[in-house]
Amino acid sequence: MVDINYQDTLTDIYTRLLKKDNYGEPSEAFPVLSDVDTKKFGIHMTTIESENFSIGDANDRFSIQSISKVLSLTYALNLVGEKIWQRVRIEPSGSAFNSLVQLEYEKGIPRNPFINAGAIVICDILVSALSNPKQEMLNFIRSISGNENIDYCKATAEEEEKFAFRNYALANFMKSFGNIENKISQVLELYFYLCSINLSCQELSHTFLYLANNGVSPLTNLTVATPSQTKKINAIMQMCGLYDEAGEFAYRVGLPGKSGIGGGIVAVHPGKYVVTVWSPKLNKKGNSYRGINFLEIMTTETEISIF
Ligand code: GLU
Repeated sequence: MVDINYQDTLTDIYTRLLKKDNYGEPSEAFPVLSDVDTKKFGIHMTTIESENFSIGDANDRFSIQSISKVLSLTYALNLVGEKIWQRVRIEPSGSAFNSLVQLEYEKGIPRNPFINAGAIVICDILVSALSNPKQEMLNFIRSISGNENIDYCKATAEEEEKFAFRNYALANFMKSFGNIENKISQVLELYFYLCSINLSCQELSHTFLYLANNGVSPLTNLTVATPSQTKKINAIMQMCGLYDEAGEFAYRVGLPGKSGIGGGIVAVHPGKYVVTVWSPKLNKKGNSYRGINFLEIMTTETEISIF
């Protein structure tokens, strides 16, 4: 296999993309997201050998938003196991991340855990299983990242709550089908706080490294998921991690990934590395325009993807 100098690769693609136009707009969901500096662009890769490669604004924290859905799924699988699939499916949605339409004919069962409806059900499962869900989720995220400085951003969570008409609609609609057990305010509070976390590309790459290493984080030696759960989480990321652009992402990039409307994308190469890209301008599907371009060029030019 060709020996790749990842630092040179990252730097080279980053420099080329900076010279090109950057299209799209930051999310307008609420002011914390729309007020972001759209010139920000950071990349960080961590390999399973714990090597780190970085360029640009890789140490600036940003709102991880939906990227947190992978962490809540991981913890729910830890706690409850395969039973969660009675309440949420594992099929690509083909609809927008906050869409309500499928819930009507699928009787309140969301298509997958990475769209809002599915993540809200996962939060409901966590609320049922944990005595202090917010604190225990935070402890989990801190322990898998080896970083005690990670915290919720109360201001973001509260702002998100003010604009969460669709998330309330999704939760209420699912409750009408019996697929939300707890009080909606309690379930959505956990959901908003998980979306509110700010992390840098470097911190995200460290946090997600268990997915590249069969469930064990090489940085903390912690077993986060079983090899079988890790396989499944990566598979769901591949099929459902980029909203209704997951097919195009698989086609162009060829790695499991998860995006958030804060402009971050985490991509995993099982057995090799995690790479996180952040650039806040989003394309029409809500994914980072520059982030996808970067990952596409990287896997195409290195000729290394999972396919
Ligand atoms: N907090 C956002 C919402 O609930 C997350 C969306 C996303 O990043 O996909 O709509």
